[in-house]
Amino acid sequence: MKLVPGLLLVPAVLLPFALAQEKDKASTPPAYTVIRAGALIDGKSETPRRDQVIFIRGNRIDGVRDAAKAQIPAGAKVIDLSQATVLPGMIDSHTHIFLQGEDPRQGGYDINILKYPLALRAARATVSARRALEQGFTTIRDLETEGAGYGDVGIKEAIEGGYIPGPRMFVVTRAISTTAGYSLDGYAPELDMPKGAQIVDGPVEARKAAREQLGHGADWIKVYMTHRSWVGKHGELVSQPTLTVEELRAIVDEAHGWQKKVACHAYSGIGLQRALDGGCDSIEHGLEISDAQIAQMVKQGTWYCPTISVYYTDWAAADTADGQRDRLRASAHEESFRKAMKAGVKIVFGTDMGGIPWTEPIAQEFPRMTALGMTPMEAIRSATSRAAEMLDMEGQIGVLAPGAFADIVAVPGDPLADIKQLGNVEFVMKDGKVFREEGK
Ligand SMILES: [Zn+2]
Repeated sequence: MKLVPGLLLVPAVLLPFALAQEKDKASTPPAYTVIRAGALIDGKSETPRRDQVIFIRGNRIDGVRDAAKAQIPAGAKVIDLSQATVLPGMIDSHTHIFLQGEDPRQGGYDINILKYPLALRAARATVSARRALEQGFTTIRDLETEGAGYGDVGIKEAIEGGYIPGPRMFVVTRAISTTAGYSLDGYAPELDMPKGAQIVDGPVEARKAAREQLGHGADWIKVYMTHRSWVGKHGELVSQPTLTVEELRAIVDEAHGWQKKVACHAYSGIGLQRALDGGCDSIEHGLEISDAQIAQMVKQGTWYCPTISVYYTDWAAADTADGQRDRLRASAHEESFRKAMKAGVKIVFGTDMGGIPWTEPIAQEFPRMTALGMTPMEAIRSATSRAAEMLDMEGQIGVLAPGAFADIVAVPGDPLADIKQLGNVEFVMKDGKVFREEGK
């Protein structure tokens, strides 16, 4: 379809009025907001800076200067955070706003698909999105709606349209797996059960699913490269592989053609190997990664999004096969995280929120990371500038610097001395607008 320039459609008689309005807009620059920061962590630098002033015009950061040298423009709105540590809005690179914790006692995962009307799930997803923003996460990469179709595209639109509060969203829509590669599982074989992901078999179906999802607004494609897992004969974590390398390659080729990336859920073994050989952009979870696979990730520049906390929830009893698997997942994951960090794999902060109830704090993942040897500053970068780089938003989000979106948060204490301070966010600005200001 050929597009007609909009101006040609305006009747000539309205033109002077329209032009006058335009001129009016141009002559009143957006007002300045100024934030006084006691300490400033810019998301990129190695060290924080004391007594800084951030200048914000409209929805962008205009400048960051030493308080001693800064001239506050007349009429500027001043926000005093001189007793706080100010950071870029944080980024959670692995969430599910359409999941609510999946407590087995409340019907687990399956009840979402079997019982809940889509409108109920969408309503609850708006609460999840708000929860993320309240806690200072101004951007999320939401990795699948779990049977709620293209609902994430709708929630994203509602946030961008200003109808509901929420973070910037990168969405994947339905996600892709294979026959016998996704829930709902375990029902009578005679029943044709709905699945939480789009099921494909063969490279043709795989590419078609990617095209459909991209066509309907997916910012990333999410692929499940493993499904069930159990403890193997030698005490290793075995996970059932799903897509073949050829199937994944078709998806990656299609997504890259659209300049989009592919996130691969992969626990271990053959499925994780196929994810790397198929050219995935990020490994999600990566519970048990071999040394050779870590070396391949470094070589290929593959991102690693570990999700440590969620593997400490809902353990089965210790004396059961499932219980032993649950404990192995957690311990293997810690080992993989340590090895990946040492080898210089690019690590981003992710939680799998939704797998964890949204009533719980997102920031609980930070102390898990630092307990495994990551420095507090590196953990902060994994949730700011590093994640921005993965999302192809370098310089736009995850950093406090001129030209970036004014996504800014503050905590009362020093997160470099006590990483748990990141769970005490008391100020949130997104896109230049204050969303939360404690005591106001
Ligand atoms: Zn997930």
